[in-house]
Amino acid sequence: MEQFDPRQVKHRDAQELAQGYSKGIRRFEIACIALFAVAVTVQAIRMVRPAMENPWLMVAAFAAGYLFADFVSGFVHWLADTWGSVDMPIIGKALLRPFREHHVDQKAIIHHDFIETNGNNCGICVPAGLAALFVPLEDPLVFFLMAWLLWSMIWVMGTNQFHKWAHMDRPPGWVAVLQKLHLVLPPEHHQIHHTPPYATHYCITTGWLNRPLAAIRFFRVLEWIVTTTTGVIPRADDLGVRAALAVQEAVAVKPVAVPADERKAPAPRP
Ligand SMILES: [Zn+2]
Ligand SMILES: [Zn+2]
Repeated sequence: MEQFDPRQVKHRDAQELAQGYSKGIRRFEIACIALFAVAVTVQAIRMVRPAMENPWLMVAAFAAGYLFADFVSGFVHWLADTWGSVDMPIIGKALLRPFREHHVDQKAIIHHDFIETNGNNCGICVPAGLAALFVPLEDPLVFFLMAWLLWSMIWVMGTNQFHKWAHMDRPPGWVAVLQKLHLVLPPEHHQIHHTPPYATHYCITTGWLNRPLAAIRFFRVLEWIVTTTTGVIPRADDLGVRAALAVQEAVAVKPVAVPADERKAPAPRP
C-alpha cells in the first residue's frame, strides 16, 4: 500500500450528500417496507405446512440464506462504493448516496430511523419476494429454494440494522453479545472497511465472507475486468480521481496503465 497516501482522498461534502434524502425517496422507502412485509408474511404463512413436513430443509435454508445475504451485502456495497456517481439520476440519489454519505459521516447512520435504515434493502428484495408468492411449494427442492429466498430476504432486511449496530458506541447488551459471537457484524471487523484504502471488507451482514473474498481477490478481479473493458476508474466518485488512481495502483490485480495527463489531480471538490 506504500503508493497510496490517504491524504489524497477527497470525499464529497457530507451536508450536500445528506440533503439528497428527499421526500420522494422516503415515500418510495415506505412503499418498499410495506411490500416487503406483505411478501414475507404471506410467504411465511404458505410455508408453515411444507416446513413441518421438511424441517431440516427449512434449517438448511435458514443457514444458506444467512451466508447468501452476507454475500449480497458485500456485492451491492462494492457496486455502490466503486462505480457510478451520486449525480446520476434515480440510482445516484436513491442507492449510491447513502453509501457515499456513510463514508464521509460514519455516525450519521446511528440517527437514521427505521425507514431510512431499512427502506433500500427492502426495495432490493421486493421484486423477487413478490414473484416467489406465485411459485407452488409442493416439490421439496422448490420449497428449499423458496425458503432459502425467504431467509435471504429476512437477513438482507437485517443487514443495515446490523451495520447500524456496528457503528453504535453502546449497542444494547444483547446486541453486543451477538457481535462478540460474530453472529452479526462486529464493530472492530467493520472498521477495516472504514480504514484506508477503503477497498475491502464490503460484507456487512455478518462479515463472514470478507476474508475468503479478500483471499481470492474477488472484488479486485471484478474491478480489473470492468476497468480493462470500460476504462472507468473504480472509486473515482467516492475518493476523488487522484486517490482512486492511487488505490487502484496499490490494490489492483494488474496495475492498469493510465495516461500521464490523467494522473494530474483534477480541481478539488468542495
Ligand atoms: Zn463502503
Ligand atoms: Zn459502516
